[in-house]
Order: sequence, then structure tokens, then C-alpha cells
Amino acid sequence: MKALIYNGTREVAVQDVPDARIERPTDVLVHVTTTNICGSDLHMYEGRTDLEAGRVLGHENMGEVVEIGSAVDRVKVGDMVCLPFNISCGHCKNCEAGLTAFCLTLNPDAAGAAYGFAGMGPYNGGQAELLRVPYGDFNCLRLPEDAREKETDYVMLSDIFPTGWHCTELAGMRPGESVVVYGAGPVGLMAAYSAMIRGASQVMVVDRHPDRLRLAEQIGAIAIDDSKGSPVDQVLEHTRGEGADRGCECVGYQAHDPQGVEHPEMTMNDLVKSVRPTGGIGVVGIFLPQDPGAPDDMAKKGEIRFDMGLFWFKGQKIGTGQANVKAYNRQLRNLIHTGRAKPSFIVSHELPLEQAPEGYRHFDARDEGWTKVVLHPNG
Ligand code: NAD
Ligand code: ZN
Repeated sequence: MKALIYNGTREVAVQDVPDARIERPTDVLVHVTTTNICGSDLHMYEGRTDLEAGRVLGHENMGEVVEIGSAVDRVKVGDMVCLPFNISCGHCKNCEAGLTAFCLTLNPDAAGAAYGFAGMGPYNGGQAELLRVPYGDFNCLRLPEDAREKETDYVMLSDIFPTGWHCTELAGMRPGESVVVYGAGPVGLMAAYSAMIRGASQVMVVDRHPDRLRLAEQIGAIAIDDSKGSPVDQVLEHTRGEGADRGCECVGYQAHDPQGVEHPEMTMNDLVKSVRPTGGIGVVGIFLPQDPGAPDDMAKKGEIRFDMGLFWFKGQKIGTGQANVKAYNRQLRNLIHTGRAKPSFIVSHELPLEQAPEGYRHFDARDEGWTKVVLHPNG
């Protein structure tokens, strides 16, 4: 089969590899119709992780079931399914509690597993013609009859729509509250969109890319351009000096200033200042664990200079971690089906798999107009 392979820093290529196949009786095999490039793929693409060369990337996947293992009884050949990026067993202590991002069976060390991801198990990704789905009955979300017609909406259920929603949940958001989102990448835009759907009175989105800020405005948010002045001051101006009720961190350790200099602590400290005393902060942007053994050029910035004192004095709350996609994706699927949500508004490009390397290059450079790239591995 054809697949997008990671070959080293900023080197990806579409290559012929052995077909993905059923390996265990509980597996499902999916013919991938739709798969996205995610900001999380860029951690690996930019060589910031220890992902080995030869892995197939891609954790935002959707497609048609073409084969099932002998122990699969719920999912059927021909079903259109979306695959949560977290691979989970469904029966460990965390999965039973709905915390599928922290499955203890599949990757107890890193507490979680995912397709095509460094440090999250050996699983290949779905930027390929075929994808093996472990524990298929648990890890396939079945889609309704409009699956193909709305594929660029439904594919967002694999990660970023639930992740954006999760961020508002981690922040403790309630209807009528104000929300500030740092980062207008796909994840930040989904957090802002979720806050809108959940009844926020005011949503502010901070970034400096005009195309991304325009999308924020398109969904009714206030765009805050931090290249034109302190984002904290701008948030305070919009909230009568109080600060927003809730804050969402959708950037991670790659946070940088508008001049491009990296400051991994920047958004966390700006959030503490932008959120009102006793408000809540959700953090879905990734902070990789500190690894003393990592080479110097591999920026694992788990330890940051965070103003714990101000956070403590403001009595704020914080929630962190990967999104438990399964906790949200049925409800969000139904919002898409009934036309109440249309997360595809962020899609800028739909490309065949052959053009995935070009998609990576432009998305990594945050080139104007490259907000979200959707790939079609099977034409
Ligand atoms: P992205 O890189 O496309 O978007 C990040 C945005 O942040 C960019 O538009 C950039 O200009 C902006 N930015 C950088 N520094 C900033 C600053 N100081 N202030 C405000 N904005 C700033 O990535 P994405 O796909 O939107 O993903 C965002 C983060 O979410 C990544 O760390 C990704 O790995 C993570 N993520 C987490 C989960 C989860 O389950 N927790 C799931 C998906 C993605
Ligand atoms: Zn993703």
C-alpha cells in the first residue's frame, strides 16, 4: 500500500510499504478515505521527538471497514467509521471511567496510545491506503448515511473537534461565560467554536496570523492580534479589566513571540494574567516530558518558567492532557449530522496522498491560507 513515511527531520515521503492487516482477532481493517495533517504531527516532522524513521504518520482518520477480525461483532464490513486518535482497550480502569486517552493496557508507561505517534506505542498511522484499528469494536465510531457527503466534517471527530471541546471542559466553562483562546490553529479554532456552541457570551482568540484570525472572526469570536500589542492588555480591555472567565491553551511548548522566538512558557503565563481570579484554564497544547537523555537539538521542553505564585494568588484552576475523544465524539457526531455544527470551516486544502509532503511543508511553515490539510489516500 502507499503510505506517508517519516524518514527524519522534515523528511516525509509517500512510499510503498506492506499492507496493514488484521493481526489480532479484535482488529478491524479500514480503507482510509480521509485523514488530516495535525499540529501534533509537526512535533515529529520537526524532529522534536524520538520517533523512529519508517513509521507511517496520521492519527486523524476516517474510512470504510473492509475486514474484521474473528472476535469483532459490532462493527461490520462496509461501515463508515471515524477513529478516535486515542487507541484504547475499553476495559482497563481508566477506559471504564471514560478516560480513554490514558488507557493503561496499551501503553501503561506513557498512559495512552495513538496511531503514528512518538512515545504512544508502536501503531502505524492512517496517512495510508489502509489502517489497522486495534480493539475495533471499541475504537470505531460508526457514522450515519451522510458520512461521505460530510467527510471533511466527520473526520474532525477523530481529534480536533473533541479536543477543542475538551479544552473548554477542562477550563470548567459554563453557558454565558467569556472565554479566551490562545492559538488560532485548528485546535484553537475548534476550542473557540466549541465555546460558541456551548453558549459563551464572548470568545476571544489570540494569534498573529491574519488568515487564522479571520476564521476566528467568521465564527463570531473577537480576534486579538498579539503582534499589535500585549494580548493580556487586549483581553483585559474587552472584559472591563476583569479577565476572561475561562482560558484555553491551544499552542503548547512551541509558543513563540510574534518575531518567531520560542518561549515555551509564554502562553501559560499570559493565560494566568488573562483569566479572572478563580477562573479556569484548560491546556490541550502539548508539553513534551523533560528528557535529560534527549539530544540538545531535540527540544523537549517539559519544564517551563511558570508563575506559580500569580496562579496561586488568583486561585485559578487548571486541567490538562490529551482529549478523551470517545467521551465526546458521539454527541459531536450528532451535532454534525443534524447540521448544528460544521467544523470543516477550517479546511483550507484537500489533497491526494501523493501531495502530502507539500501539505506538511506549507502547514509547518504556517503559510498564509494553509489552515488545515485533509488528505485522500484512496483518491
Ligand atoms: P498549530 O501549530 O497549527 O497552531 C498553533 C497556533 O498557535 C499557530 O497559529 C501559532 O501562530 C499560534 N501561536 C504560537 N505562539 C503563540 C502565542 N505566544 N500566543 C498565541 N498564539 C500563538 O497547531 P494545532 O494543530 O492547532 O495544535 C495546537 C496544539 O494542540 C499542539 O501542541 C498540538 O500538538 C496540540 N494538540 C493536542 C491534542 C490533545 O489531545 N491534547 C490534540 C490535538 C492537538
Ligand atoms: Zn491531531
